[in-house]
Order: sequence, then C-alpha cells, then structure tokens
Amino acid sequence: MDIRIDIDRLKNDLEELGRIGRDAHGGVSRPSFSPADLEARRWLRKRIEDAGLCYRQDGAGNQFGRLECAAKTVMAGSHIDTVPNGGMFDGAAGVLAALEAARRIVEEKVPLAKALEVASFTDEEGNLVGDFLGSRAFMGRLDENEVRTGKTSFGMPFADVLKKTEFTVASILAAHKDRPELDAYLELHIEQGPVLEDEGVPIGIVEKISGKHYRQCAFVGESGHAGTTPLELRHDAFLGLADFALKATQHVATKHYGSMLTVGRAALHPGSFSVIPGRADFTLEFRSAAPDDLAAIEREVFALAEDVASTRGLKFVSRVVDTTTPVAVAPRLLDLLEEECRSLGYGSMRITSGAGHDAQILAGACDSGMIFIPSPDGVSHSPGERVNWDDLEKGANLLLRALLKLAA
Ligand SMILES: [Zn+2]
Repeated sequence: MDIRIDIDRLKNDLEELGRIGRDAHGGVSRPSFSPADLEARRWLRKRIEDAGLCYRQDGAGNQFGRLECAAKTVMAGSHIDTVPNGGMFDGAAGVLAALEAARRIVEEKVPLAKALEVASFTDEEGNLVGDFLGSRAFMGRLDENEVRTGKTSFGMPFADVLKKTEFTVASILAAHKDRPELDAYLELHIEQGPVLEDEGVPIGIVEKISGKHYRQCAFVGESGHAGTTPLELRHDAFLGLADFALKATQHVATKHYGSMLTVGRAALHPGSFSVIPGRADFTLEFRSAAPDDLAAIEREVFALAEDVASTRGLKFVSRVVDTTTPVAVAPRLLDLLEEECRSLGYGSMRITSGAGHDAQILAGACDSGMIFIPSPDGVSHSPGERVNWDDLEKGANLLLRALLKLAA
C-alpha cells in the first residue's frame, strides 16, 4: 500500500515540541523530569491520544502510543529529552516521525497483523543516572544501587528529582514488567555527524552501533616545589597524562582505524603555578563497533598506561563508570530498509553509528534497526542542530514503509 507521511504536520509537531524548554541561548534545555520535560510529556500524551493511539506510560516514565493487536509488537521511537542547551531534532525527530507514521496508518485504516507501538524513552541523554535510563528500565537492565544512590549530572541526588514526579525507585525497577513481546524496533535519528551530507546521500541505514567504555582514571605521582625540584627527579602526574593521551590516541588511530579514544576531562592536583602536579584525574572514553576491538583497545591502552607510569615513576589507577556493547543490526532489517529505499527511489548507504542510541539497548529484546538522516554541517547537541525537511520526509516515509512491512 503506497501511503506517505504528511511532512507539514510532522514539521509542525517538531516546531511545537521545540518551543517547549527553549532557553535563553536559542537552544532547547529539556532534561528528563525537568519542568520543561514534564510539559513536553503532557504535550506528547495529547498528540498520541489525538492520533487515535492507546496511550500508556510505564513506571520509568517511558511513554507509548499503541495500536492494539494480540500478536507481537513492532515498535518505533526514540526520546524527547535533550542535553542542556541542545537542539530540537535529536530524539524528537524519531519519536514524532514514528507518531506521524502511526497516525497515517490509523487514518488509512490499514489492517495490521501485529501490534504497533510508538515509544518515547526517558533520559536517553543520561542527565539523570547514566545513559538510557528509560530503555534500560524497559529492558530490566538497571542496577538497583545506581538508581537508589545515583547523582544527576547536575549534582542532585536522583532520589530528590524523583520526588517531584509520579515515579519511584520501585516503579522504575518494575517498568520492564509492562514490556510487550517485541518483534522489532526501528528508530529514526539525525546522524549527528558529517558523513551523509559529505556523501550527498539522504538516508543512512545503520549497520552497526558502536559500544563504549567509560573509565575514570588517574596518574598519581609526587607533588613538589616547581622551583627547587630538578626536572629529572620529578614524578609529574600531568606529564604522565599528556604522554599517555598522545600515545593512546596514536595507537587507536593506527591500530584500530575507525575506533575512537577521548580524554574528555582532566583535573590536576593540587593545581597551582608553583607546584608539580602530584595527581592527574581524567576521564577516558573509547568506542568501537566491533566487540573484539573494544576488548583489544582496553587491553592495549591500559598496557600503555602502565608503561608510561613505570617510565615516569607514577601509579596508574582506573575504575569502570559505564559500558555498552556494540550492536550489529539484523540482516532482515538491513535488507528491508534497503529494499524500501529502492522502491521509494531514495539514495541510501550503510553507516556505523558512533553515538549510542536506545536502539542499542532494545537490541537485547528484538531485532533493532536505525534510519539516519543527514545533520547539516554535522552539528548536534547544540542550538545550531538542523535538518533538511526533504531528508526528514524521506526518512519518515521509509520508516512508515518499513513499519507497514514489519507489522503486515
Ligand atoms: Zn538522541
């Protein structure tokens, strides 16, 4: 059946949602459970109900719009929370494209053989307690201690944030009990990188989603007087970090092409003009789309760190903060999306997602796939985040077609 989405209505939805949580710097600040997010949730609920879908919400605040059927569920969605001062398309494009697709199916009264559900997952951005709170809760993959004692990225105990909502630690931990049996999950998302625009291709079919390791690390040396301690007698923790960061980046760039390594934050102690740094704390993040690669990077990079530490008379310490596993998208979804692109006459290419997405978490329950549309200039997590409406229309039409095939 050849039905298409209504891009004007989808554009209008995105613009309306994009005004909720609009901040003074022209971006959108709508972290989960903030007043702006609670307003956005009410707005989304209304849009879901107006579309003729059956609204439900689970104990983690994940919101759903369902077209009921006794068989397994085909799900499509993303998230509507944002990073502070983020953009209006990251996540929202996926939720509202899925809503538009379901709305068209309702309007055309297309008979489906499976249930269809639109999903919006809580706190994909990890402002509360680690990334993917909502989809991890949905999957029953949350660590109870993390939820009970976690601190938000704004420094507030998560338990205090919850008090301002209808949710509790217990309701979050029980959210997965409401999960329907899933057949497949699809997520449309902006690419958040420059590849599709560079290639001049409107659709990216995600083949792999990178996994990542977050580590909090430190080199520990000895503080000393910066005027009286000769250079050759120092145990300078900063130099250890600098040496390590260069060598580790070089190693990944040459031995694991396509993988990433980043030192995103560093703090020197005691941190003064005239004192040799006795300790350098830093975050270390590495990503890869291949599980073996991720394990190899960890092994090799930590060997490098030990090597640097022993050469410079330092100690290297590290602890795990978070890890996600790389996901390979099921061939049946890749084939389906490619076939539908061909029949719609849209150019497409396979692409690896360097960023994590709810689709990666859902892959633990069913075949899970993603459709990327170009991010002009590769800009994301910023007020400058944009889409070309033409591309969004293509992406949403592809999503609609794929959902129709999956649920037929
Ligand atoms: Zn996102």
